[in-house]
Amino acid sequence: MVVTGAASGIGAATAGLLRRRGDEVIGVDLHDAEVVADLSTPEGRQAAATAALRAAGGVVDAVAACAGTAAPTEASIRVNYFGVVEFLDALRPGLARAAAPRAAVVSSISATQPHDAGVVAACAGRDEERALELARKTVADGHGQWLYASSKLALARWVRRTCVTPEWAGAGIPLNAVAPGVVVTPMIEPLLATAEGRELMDRAVPMPLHGHAPPEAIAHALIWLLGPENTHLTGQVVFVDGGADATLRGEEI
Ligand code: NAD
Repeated sequence: MVVTGAASGIGAATAGLLRRRGDEVIGVDLHDAEVVADLSTPEGRQAAATAALRAAGGVVDAVAACAGTAAPTEASIRVNYFGVVEFLDALRPGLARAAAPRAAVVSSISATQPHDAGVVAACAGRDEERALELARKTVADGHGQWLYASSKLALARWVRRTCVTPEWAGAGIPLNAVAPGVVVTPMIEPLLATAEGRELMDRAVPMPLHGHAPPEAIAHALIWLLGPENTHLTGQVVFVDGGADATLRGEEI
């Protein structure tokens, strides 16, 4: 199994739970991983996929793409969208060789929040240069905080349209996303450290069921999506968010 972002937070929890039950895990991250690589660049993504495929002997049973950044800059587009879809595309031949392959990515409740439509469209067109150019403009206009939401919406939409293609469904590979609410990891801890930050988060992402989640809550959902019990669930964005989406969007499905 390949887990990106394995050095911290949700990726580390996922890799840890998988290893504890006996799976072999190839972690990919900027540091403290079997494959040390930078998913923010096309070269880094290719190098990461090549190294992960080699470490897996050419056959990859499952991929959990957890690496991400909350930076209100173009880095969100580089890592959270292109760093996921290009990495998964490059690993797909290895998945197709497995007996029961599966893949899952990590979107976010932020995918339902204000975003930059131009950036999302450029992502959908797989035009990274254009997406980054628009992202820099968004930052210059003072809306850098929209870029994280844009990356996660673009990623959820990629899952929806890609899962049914011959390369994925046709090759027997379920492809899904989990969309967490607030998860207590190093990504969010600085914001949760102040009363003001907590209040901001709780207003934006209300979680009536059990409140902020530990990373294991997301890891368990990812692991089910990647397990042999999942034969028919594909193309779904599964909100693991303590009821935030149901609170914010009501009966909309
Ligand atoms: P985290 O910061 O604890 O872990 C993210 C990991 O990704 C780190 O180990 C980091 O080194 C790695 N990473 C970042 N940029 C990278 C790059 N260029 N190349 C390779 N690896 C890179 O954060 P987390 O909360 O565990 O986040 C995991 C995923 O969950 C992310 O995609 C994040 O957007 C998403 N998410 C998190 C929350 C939350 O509240 N924490 C909510 C919704 C979605």
